[in-house]
Amino acid sequence: MNKTLTIVVPCYDEQEVLPETVKELSNILRGLIKENKISSQSKILFVNDGSKDKTWDLISKYTKEYDCVAGIKFSRNYGHQNALLAGMSVAVKYSDMIITIDADLQDDVNAIPKMVEKYYEGYDVVYGVRNSRETDTFFKRRTALAFYSLMRKLGVNLVPDSADYRLLSRRATKSLLSFKERNLFLRGMVPLVGYKSAKVYYARKERFAGKSKYPLSKMIHFALDGITSFSIAPIHLILYLGILTVIISIICMIYTLVEKITGHIVTGWASLMLSIWFLGGVQLISISIIGEYIGKIFSEVKHRPRFNIEKETYTDKMIKGN
Ligand code: UDP
Ligand code: MG
Repeated sequence: MNKTLTIVVPCYDEQEVLPETVKELSNILRGLIKENKISSQSKILFVNDGSKDKTWDLISKYTKEYDCVAGIKFSRNYGHQNALLAGMSVAVKYSDMIITIDADLQDDVNAIPKMVEKYYEGYDVVYGVRNSRETDTFFKRRTALAFYSLMRKLGVNLVPDSADYRLLSRRATKSLLSFKERNLFLRGMVPLVGYKSAKVYYARKERFAGKSKYPLSKMIHFALDGITSFSIAPIHLILYLGILTVIISIICMIYTLVEKITGHIVTGWASLMLSIWFLGGVQLISISIIGEYIGKIFSEVKHRPRFNIEKETYTDKMIKGN
């Protein structure tokens, strides 16, 4: 018997691209079903992440028009990572493999059959990796590069140039879903799942339509989340900074004593002012880094639900009805 695939697509205000997305994804799915690569129960699962536009109306319409389309509606916007997780937690009940892909068609849908092939070759995790970043702005390219190299230095295992376009087998998905953290950084969590993994390369395109839903502020927040959820290296850094400051202050002390003994008059105002500002800055940064971690503990211990599903059309009935 053929294995069932579900393609999970998070959508936030994507009314401009959805008509094209559903067309391209359903074509790929149909092709795979026709070639007997996947079962006819395979689905595309759109997760509406609290969109303010007509996204949910479109998803409901497609649910009726296409047998292979199902939808989940969040009660409000919970963010991209939570939308992916919700889609996976629903899809895992009915699927042998799950592919997650953005709604904007930046990721080449033709990589899907290649991912499925890798699954049959025995891989549990298949990463979609961009082989070029030409369509990204210079700024985004540079910052992404710096981010990946920083993460590597901090000891976090990430697959460079891979985002949230990937295939996970059922057991890999189950294992990922057993991670109970609220601050989600999926691309850091997936490598922790283990299993045999493979890569599929593709060229990342321009967004098909609409605007990016990741403005700079959200991107910085996401990057900080990635660092502080996966590494306590910044806290160690504070310790080193503290040790360095103490060493400098000992040198300064010796210098001051020598100056005093040799009778030089030190006015001292400039150095005093400088050290007050410098030390004040170092202390503030240090406290804020520790605060960042305490904030993270605060949000984790609350154990709030990661999402709240208002409506769901991917149900047992849909499977049996097919
Ligand atoms: N997205 C989401 N919730 C959000 C922000 C984004 O579900 O709060 C979805 C969005 O609809 C898209 C994907 O996440 O399918 C990636 O977003 P986008 O393409 O805007 O990010 P970029 O490619 O610019 O980094
Ligand atoms: Mg995009």
